[in-house]
Amino acid sequence: MAHQVALYKPEWLTYPQNPAELSPVIWMPSFARDAQGELTVDGTAVSSLVEEFGTPQYVFSESTFRARAAEFRAAFEQAFEAHGAEVSVYYAGKSFLTTAVAKWAEEEGLCLDTASGGELALAMRAGVAGGKIALHGNNKSEAEIARALTYGVGRLVADSVPEVQLIARVATELGVTAPVMLRVTPGVHASTHDFIATAHEDQKFGQSLVPGTAALAGLSQAELDQLGVTADDAYATLAAALALASESIDLRGLHCHIGSQIFEAEGFGKAAEKVLTYMHQLNERFDVVLPEIDLGGGYGIGYTEQDTPRGSAEIARELAAMVASTCRAVGMAIPHLSFEPGRSISGPSGITLYTVGTIKNVSIEDENGDTRVRRYVSVDGGMSDNPRPVLYESDYAVTLANRAPAGEQLLSRVVGKHCESGDIVIRYCYLPADLTAGDVLAVPATGAYNHVMSSNYNYLTRPPVVATSQGKPARAIVRRETEEDMLARDLGLV
Ligand code: PLP
Repeated sequence: MAHQVALYKPEWLTYPQNPAELSPVIWMPSFARDAQGELTVDGTAVSSLVEEFGTPQYVFSESTFRARAAEFRAAFEQAFEAHGAEVSVYYAGKSFLTTAVAKWAEEEGLCLDTASGGELALAMRAGVAGGKIALHGNNKSEAEIARALTYGVGRLVADSVPEVQLIARVATELGVTAPVMLRVTPGVHASTHDFIATAHEDQKFGQSLVPGTAALAGLSQAELDQLGVTADDAYATLAAALALASESIDLRGLHCHIGSQIFEAEGFGKAAEKVLTYMHQLNERFDVVLPEIDLGGGYGIGYTEQDTPRGSAEIARELAAMVASTCRAVGMAIPHLSFEPGRSISGPSGITLYTVGTIKNVSIEDENGDTRVRRYVSVDGGMSDNPRPVLYESDYAVTLANRAPAGEQLLSRVVGKHCESGDIVIRYCYLPADLTAGDVLAVPATGAYNHVMSSNYNYLTRPPVVATSQGKPARAIVRRETEEDMLARDLGLV
């Protein structure tokens, strides 16, 4: 959700009647408070996590991740089974990926979505079976395509006409057949931040379904004629014609992804309807039966009290009903369906622990012109471990973790230690009046798009990822970066 600018306090944030409470919209059952009020993760007290691994620290609950992965898979399988259709659930690794996480996803029966050669390298190192991996990206290099084909990935999702041509050439050179899905643009503007909405026309992803866009690919008239494509066709139709004409491509079907952190079902339904209808037209046009369709991910999670996430069963049931009714309407058998949830599996599984440093009050004017005090609480991380507030104006919640947050609560802003005034971790929150340097804060729902987007800005070393599971000691699955790691690439006065 976009924050409200220049506001003392947004309406959605209310004074906490019970500041120790962990809202189930934001906090999964792995996170709880012990009898003294200290936060625990899968039964381990945060003070012991901090003692062993320091702060900032990403804590990632293996128990929650596995439970959510299994739940999403079961929900989609059951919902589509009711309509006689089969489903694959791909975990979108871009949201959070380590070799351990890739294996957990595989063990829970999910396939794995990768978005670059690097993510693919990680999946390969984890030993994920090639057939269960998808490779995405709007600008795959020849080397990335060759690596994916050599490893035998289950699908490459092609994003443009030049990419279809490149995949065909590389596959021919390698003497293999490339399984390809075409990413298309259903023209739905999802209600989310512009930078994570990905299905309207004026952005970089996908291939247009709009008639008359085929010419935009810049192929010669002779080339179009040879493929049987006219100027009235859509760009995606040209891509499909090219893929079908190549002996080195096995065109599996179509893919779309309308964006991320979306709560309403409407956008998903419209996109499904458009893409299924278009696939039916393609089938008729080229006298083929494309067997698969992938409707992407993007299901929203709870970051703060203002969010209203829906359960996986509800999402799956709605999508299955929409897909079934569109297929009935156009007279097509339901194809094999795939989905790519990322954030909704990894996001609620992780939290970040920070240590409080300096605390400073500033005087501000509220919306009525009255003078107010805002308390700035600085922590030992910031935009280098969580760039989402800066990138997307994202709101987060926070709680005092090392002890019970009792007594009077003050409106506060949690900020990082970077050399940027925009380095805000939590824009609006209540924290105890007696908060002091050395206290530990926990920020929930940081499992997705935090660790994977972290940087060394201001030469801060990146935090470790500590995994927890019920009944098992906590252990680092990614160790803390050292200054030596960080400086190792600097070649000095050469
Ligand atoms: N699939 C594709 C193609 C994406 O680009 C993304 C995210 O941007 C996802 C899946 C995962 O989205 P989310 O993490 O919101 O579920």
